[in-house]
Amino acid sequence: MGNLPASRWEAELLDRSDPIAALRDRFFGDGSGPIYLDGNSLGRQPLATPGRVAGVLEEWRTRLVGGWDEWIERPGLVGDRIGRLLGAAPGQVVVSDSTSVNLYKLASAALDARPSRSVVLADRNDFPTVRYVLEGLVGRTGRELCWVDSDPSEGLSLPAPTSASASGAEVALVCLSGVNFRSGARADLRSVTAEAHEHGALVLWDLSHAAGCVPLDLDGDGVDLAVGCSYKYLNGGPGSPAWLYVRRGLQSELRQPIWGWWGQADQFAMGEDYDPALGIDRFQVGTPPVLGLAAVDAGIEPLLDVGMASLWAKTADLVALLAARVEALLVPLGARIASPSDPSRRGGHLAVAHEQAWSVVRRLIDLDLVVADFRPPDVMRLAPVAAYTRFVDVWDAVERIAGVLGEPLPGGDAPVPPAPPAHGVPAHRSTRGVTSGG
Ligand SMILES: *Cc1c(COP(=O)(O)O)cnc(C)c1O
Repeated sequence: MGNLPASRWEAELLDRSDPIAALRDRFFGDGSGPIYLDGNSLGRQPLATPGRVAGVLEEWRTRLVGGWDEWIERPGLVGDRIGRLLGAAPGQVVVSDSTSVNLYKLASAALDARPSRSVVLADRNDFPTVRYVLEGLVGRTGRELCWVDSDPSEGLSLPAPTSASASGAEVALVCLSGVNFRSGARADLRSVTAEAHEHGALVLWDLSHAAGCVPLDLDGDGVDLAVGCSYKYLNGGPGSPAWLYVRRGLQSELRQPIWGWWGQADQFAMGEDYDPALGIDRFQVGTPPVLGLAAVDAGIEPLLDVGMASLWAKTADLVALLAARVEALLVPLGARIASPSDPSRRGGHLAVAHEQAWSVVRRLIDLDLVVADFRPPDVMRLAPVAAYTRFVDVWDAVERIAGVLGEPLPGGDAPVPPAPPAHGVPAHRSTRGVTSGG
């Protein structure tokens, strides 16, 4: 973007000239009510989704078990379509299980492929499930987890095998996020992967906060392995199934640890021994979630229709405007941008730190002003999503946040309500928005 809009009217002009503005009309939400800046937790519902899910219900009703003639292909077909958003040629992405389970499957397969190496490198500031899955896995396999300490705002500085205490020759696997869930810091997939490869290690990327948001070129960047969820920027709905990517050249070499019949070469021969399928299907486990797959397919369709380049061009402009407005209105009220200072290292959301972030987010939701979310210790995350957020939404949202930040807290001198505990509370079980999934 040349000049950032300096008024709401200029923001409106940007919306009028936005080449992908029409995408917004393909999602539910009539523009009244709170401004939704939480699409990085749960994407909005596309208008097409109910019909698509109803289509599977109809197939089930009318075709019964005969429906499997077509359903059986869908994990790979939808996977290939997600692959177009990832820069992945067909045959390398499949929809299966949850992100956490896919992390376990691929990390375990990678460790088995590097039996003489003992170390897994991971980021201490990564999303909890990444850390937990790896801790459990190294414990079971007698490996060692070495933490890379990324900067909480700036992200990874030297995200490489040599940056931790381990020597490169010991590293079996490097496991990192493409976009950090809290700060939105974006990693350089190509250079991290190249450096790990120089040391003989494999790299597994969690792209949950990247897929459908930032431009990706998994094939071009030489990426080995990747996983991600489909309910954030891919709009698949709550609990929609995750995806996984395995580079074609690695597929025959890797075996995942869960030997289910959907990963079997000749599945319906019901043979005695497990003999993994050739290709990406060996990373499936059990019967695929056909209803969820239909929702994922509907969720990615608007993105595929315009392509990642135009989505990212708009996202970068939205985030730039957001950052400028936060600097202008919220920083004077004691907030701080907790995302990379270099805009080219930012993903699709901005982290804004403030000591009262939790109560501010709570109040914004209670007053139907803005839906954002809170991440401990003091961060509110603001995600303007290119598919359905307008420039005026960013303009208005920051004004609304400033209004809440600037007012005395309810109850005068009453203490700020305590932040929710960082551990032990399943995020999606708490109340609206504040700590929703991801
Ligand atoms: C949202 C998210 C997940 C989600 O994992 P599930 O198994 O789908 O609950 C995993 N990793 C990262 C980095 C995420 O942001």
